[in-house]
This record gives sequence, C-alpha cells and structure tokens, in this order.
Amino acid sequence: MQLILLGPPGVGKGTQAEKISGEMGLAHISTGDMFREAVSTGTELGKTAREYMAAGKLVPDSIVIGMVEERLDRPDTQRGFLLDGFPRTIAQAESLQALLARMGRPVNAVIDLSADEDLIIARLSGRRVCASCGATYHAVNKPPKQDGVCDACGGEVRQREDDREEAIRERLAEYAAKTSALTDFYAGLGLLVPIDATGSPEQVFGDVVSALEARAASGTSEVR
Ligand code: ADP
Ligand code: ZN
Repeated sequence: MQLILLGPPGVGKGTQAEKISGEMGLAHISTGDMFREAVSTGTELGKTAREYMAAGKLVPDSIVIGMVEERLDRPDTQRGFLLDGFPRTIAQAESLQALLARMGRPVNAVIDLSADEDLIIARLSGRRVCASCGATYHAVNKPPKQDGVCDACGGEVRQREDDREEAIRERLAEYAAKTSALTDFYAGLGLLVPIDATGSPEQVFGDVVSALEARAASGTSEVR
C-alpha cells in the first residue's frame, strides 16, 4: 500500500501519520523530519534546508525530490509506505508519479486532512516539541508535567523555530500558494480521500480507517 498524507501545517499530519503507518505496517516517510534531522546533525543538506525552514519557506524542489528518491530506495519501503509532507508542489507530485510508475508502486490513496485556519494557528502557536525524543506537547492543551521538561525522556521541551508567528504565517501562505493545488491534482486522478481533521486524534484516525476501508470495498483503489 502506498499512501500520501496531505493537509496544511498544523492540521495534525504528523500525529495521524504515526497512527496510520503503525496500524498498517507502512514505512513513515516525513520530509520535515528528514530535514530537521539533517539540520540537527549539521550535514550540507541541513545547512541548505535550515534557512528555508526557519523562514517558513519551502525547500527547493530539486533538493527535496532527490532526497525522497534516495529514501524510497531503502528496503523498508517494500512493505508499503506513507508519505507525510511530500509532495508539496505540483512539480514534486509530477516527479513522484513518474518515479512510482518506474518502481511499479502506484499511489493507492491520498488522504487530505483539513481544518479551519483559526484552529490551525492555535495548534501551531501552542505546539512544543521535545528536542531529544520528538514528543509533542501544547502550551495550553497538553503541557508537560514540569515546565520545559519532557514527560517521556526528561529532554528539553521547546518551540520549533518555524512555529513562531511570522514563520507560521509564511508556512500557511506557502501552503495556499503551492500545496493546496495538489487536492485538485489528486482528485483528478481519482485518488483523493477528504477527511475533516477537527476532532480528537482518535476520532480523525477512525475516520481515516473507515474511509480507506470503504474505498477498498468499492474497489476504487484497484482501478488506478
Ligand atoms: P509542517 O508542520 O509545516 O507541515 P513539516 O514538518 O512537514 O512542516 O516541514 C517543515 C519544513 O520543512 C517546511 O516548512 C519546509 O521548509 C520543509 N519541507 C518539508 N517537506 C518539504 C517539501 N516536500 N518540499 C519543500 N519543503 C519541505
Ligand atoms: Zn523527550
């Protein structure tokens, strides 16, 4: 099974990606996580990506596409994979279609999470992340027991550089300008599965599973 997870920043893609890939035994491929890892280990890729990320801008297509091609070559993708945060532009989507056609691994479905902008901004501006283990918290809805300290590992809990208000605004603008067109692109291929991501993580996950099951039962995923 090859799945793509779409949706604006802050809609809960990361959370759903973990649940879906865990449940279905898929490799979880997050380009955002890959870039953050490159930044923290200080590779050349990380140095280039960092300036774009901190400003809330997209990393140039050629860099992202090359990185994803390499990642899809790894053996853990054999059992299927879930792409989270990629593609983000029409050029990325077109390259991906061509690559997956060459690999003989076509996309089965594109899950499109949506929520209104006020909710998204509230989620992002309150988001806090453990610098050591990546556990996520929320300043208001889900603070760590001790201020600034991760419940899971004792690491430092802080705000992501691109979760500052300026960068959030820029990320939403980038989404509107470059990524939102992907819903039409995948709807045109008969692959889009729209999901309302307003509810709790469990509720949203339940809706995703039901929608994928309904799709499989109707045989839609076999057609393309
Ligand atoms: P978000 O929370 O905005 O969905 P991610 O964690 O997926 O963010 O990505 C963080 C940043 O990494 C993006 O704002 C962008 O700079 C960069 N990035 C991640 N994936 C891509 C991609 N497919 N194309 C271009 N840039 C990307
Ligand atoms: Zn931690």
